[in-house]
Amino acid sequence: MASSPTVLMRLVASAYSIAQKAGTIVRRVIAEGDLGIIEKTCATDLQTKADRLVQVSICSSLARKFPKLTIIGEEDLPPEDVDQELIEDGQWEEILKQPCPSQYSAIKEEDLVVWVDPLDGTKEYTEGLLDNVTVLIGIAYEGKAIAGVINQPYYNYQAGPEAVLGRTIWGVLGLGAFGFQLKEVPAGKHIITTTRSHNSQLVTDCITAMNPDDVLRVGGAGNKIIQLIEGKASAYVFASPGCKKWDTCAPEVILHAVGGKLTDIHGNALQYNKEVKHMNSAGVLATLRNYDYYASRVPQSVKNALVP
Ligand code: AMP
Ligand code: MG
Ligand code: MG
Repeated sequence: MASSPTVLMRLVASAYSIAQKAGTIVRRVIAEGDLGIIEKTCATDLQTKADRLVQVSICSSLARKFPKLTIIGEEDLPPEDVDQELIEDGQWEEILKQPCPSQYSAIKEEDLVVWVDPLDGTKEYTEGLLDNVTVLIGIAYEGKAIAGVINQPYYNYQAGPEAVLGRTIWGVLGLGAFGFQLKEVPAGKHIITTTRSHNSQLVTDCITAMNPDDVLRVGGAGNKIIQLIEGKASAYVFASPGCKKWDTCAPEVILHAVGGKLTDIHGNALQYNKEVKHMNSAGVLATLRNYDYYASRVPQSVKNALVP
C-alpha cells in the first residue's frame, strides 16, 4: 500500500497551486489597469496592488492548511479580513505522487519556514517588462533552503496567441527541479546576468573583474536564476546589499537541485532560519556550472566593502 504524502510534499503540492493562483492575480491586476503603486524605501523600491493581493493570497492560503508553519512575506501589510476569493485550497497531484527524499520524510510542519516574495521584479512589472516577474515561495528546514516553487505569470507573453501563458517551476533538494528544460551556456562563454534597477559601482567593479563576454541587465532574482538554468546566462552577480531572503530562497533550491551553486559574494551559504536577518548584505553569486571561475575573480576591494 502506498504511504500517504509527507508534510513537505503536501506543502510543495499546495505551494504549486497557490503560486499558480498568484500568477492569475498578477495578470488580473495588469488587465484591470490600476497598479496602485506605493514607494517603500525609495523610487526603485516599489509595491503594487499585485504585491499586496498576492502576499495575502499566498500567506492566508498556506496558513489555513498548515497553521504551524512560520511564514515570512516581503510586504508589511496591516491585518485585515481576507477575501475568500483569494484563498487557494488545491494541491498539484503530480507532486503528491513523487517520493519525498528520505532525509525530509520525518519533518514536522512546525519545523518549516516559508519565505514568500509575492512579486519579484516589481520595478519591471510597473515598466511593462512582464516576463521579468516571478512569484517565489521558498521552503527552509534547519536554516537550509530545501524546496521551492517559482511561478512566472508572463512566460510566453510575446510568443503569440497559441502559446500557453505562464508556467510554474518547482523543486526539492534530492528529488530534482521540474517545469523547464535544463540548458547550459556554451562552454567557455562568460555571460553575466545582473540588476537593471539597483546598480552600483561595486556591482560594476565586480562584473568588470570577471571579464565577461556579455552582461545582461534584467529585473528579478527569480528571473535571473531562470536565465541560469535555461542557458541564457552563466553567472548571476550582485555585489551589493538589497536582495533579501525571500528573493533567494526558492530560486536557490531550483538551482541547487540541478547541480548549481548560490552563495554570497564571499562564498558563504545563505541561511534561512526564521531568526535570520532578511537582507543578503554580502550580495549574491550564483552559477549553474563553473562557480570557481567567478568566485576567484571577485576583487578583494569588493569583498571588503560587503560585510555578511
Ligand atoms: P534586481 O536584480 O534589481 O531585480 O533585484 C533582485 C531583488 O532584490 C528584487 O526583489 C529587488 O527588489 C531586490 N533589491 C535589490 N537591490 C535592492 C535595493 N537597493 N533596494 C530594494 N530592493 C532591492
Ligand atoms: Mg524580490
Ligand atoms: Mg517582491
